[in-house]
Amino acid sequence: MERGEAVSEKRLHLRISQSAESAVRTGHPWIFADSVRECSRSGRTGEIGVVYDRNDRFLAVGLFDAESPIRLRVLERGRGCRVDGEFWAKRMDRSVAARCGVVGDETDGYRVVNGESDGWPGLVVDRFGDVLVVKIYTAAWMPWLGRVRDELVRIFDPTAIVLRMGRHCSEAVRREATASSAGRGVSREFPLSDGSVLHGILENDTVPFRENGLCFEAEVIRGQKTGFFLDQRDNRRRVEALSGGRIVVNTFSYSGGFSVYAARGGATRVVDVDVSAPALEAGKRNFDRNAGVGGWACSREGLRADVFEWFRETPPIGCGLIVVDPPSMAKREPERAEAIRQYARLASGAIRQLRGDGGILVAASCSSHVSEAEFFESVLGACRSSGRRFVEIERTGHPADHPSSFPQAAYLKCIYLRLG
Ligand code: SAH
Repeated sequence: MERGEAVSEKRLHLRISQSAESAVRTGHPWIFADSVRECSRSGRTGEIGVVYDRNDRFLAVGLFDAESPIRLRVLERGRGCRVDGEFWAKRMDRSVAARCGVVGDETDGYRVVNGESDGWPGLVVDRFGDVLVVKIYTAAWMPWLGRVRDELVRIFDPTAIVLRMGRHCSEAVRREATASSAGRGVSREFPLSDGSVLHGILENDTVPFRENGLCFEAEVIRGQKTGFFLDQRDNRRRVEALSGGRIVVNTFSYSGGFSVYAARGGATRVVDVDVSAPALEAGKRNFDRNAGVGGWACSREGLRADVFEWFRETPPIGCGLIVVDPPSMAKREPERAEAIRQYARLASGAIRQLRGDGGILVAASCSSHVSEAEFFESVLGACRSSGRRFVEIERTGHPADHPSSFPQAAYLKCIYLRLG
């Protein structure tokens, strides 16, 4: 018997509120705990739940999570299906096929599976060369990880597959492990935690991969997200095209991706600013590795600083392009209003650093609680308050390997402005 199917013998049946029914019908992948009206028995995290509507018609099938406010994550709606080996194989084939031709030959670091928007609610898979990283945001995936691993091995034959967990998921898995060892809860076959290796051997946490002909490293176990911000690949390309002959300041630089592209694009100097020393070290390694091969005439500096303070304290340096790509400022809805103010503050600080004859501001946001309109308006508001002339160059969103199929999934937005 399959691991995932062994979790329960009898399928869990749910009924949900009318508004939740409508939401599911229009493709929303989440059913919240407070919209569950009836559950046939107490469900266990990781089992399959089937939702019927008021007229007893099949509505959806999904992964049940007994603890998360998102009680069921929809796998399929509209037509009944068996969640068996064939189901997972077809689904993985579909995700892989959707990436065909998307990133080109010079790139082997990209997102293979993008959660809900790819039919894998709460699960992403990133590829870094020969290594795959599976990141789960719900413990409901725990009983199904063997399946996911087998599909990835079948298609990619990777040297290693690493498991990463979102914070809430990690905590839920730990709680369950404690309950199991105390004789309570479900005993799972997987003694897994954040950073476990699901398949093969990971020789080094630092995994090399290629992006548009450049060479980067991803820190797949200790790094943020899955080890590298693959979602900014297309924006890095744009920054490359805009950087010729300019001094480029890369704030919230992490491992320096934007700076490496800027240098290849002809920047005379790049400055990484980040609060994290390990991030700056990774930025230096990524820069040196490529600069050596490319023979670029570009110098690099790494500054360890809080960007907000740095903007307050540094006199205008007159740089030609500045990238502002901070971490999420609003992880929860109540933080939204303050996040919008912070984005405006950052944009004002960045504008002050730009030279007066066409300096370029590249401002990005990855807060899903801040809408595109709110973010763009906060940056444009900062431009207006600066009293400088400005023209908008471009607005961008998600790259093709990071599709977003519902409002909460659309987190990434970026705006390019030229200031006089
Ligand atoms: N722009 C990066 C990703 C940014 S991730 C890329 O394209 O790869 C966010 C980064 O911001 C992290 O490296 C984190 O260390 C840094 N950070 C968070 N808060 C900061 C602050 N107040 N000042 C400086 N760096 C900060």
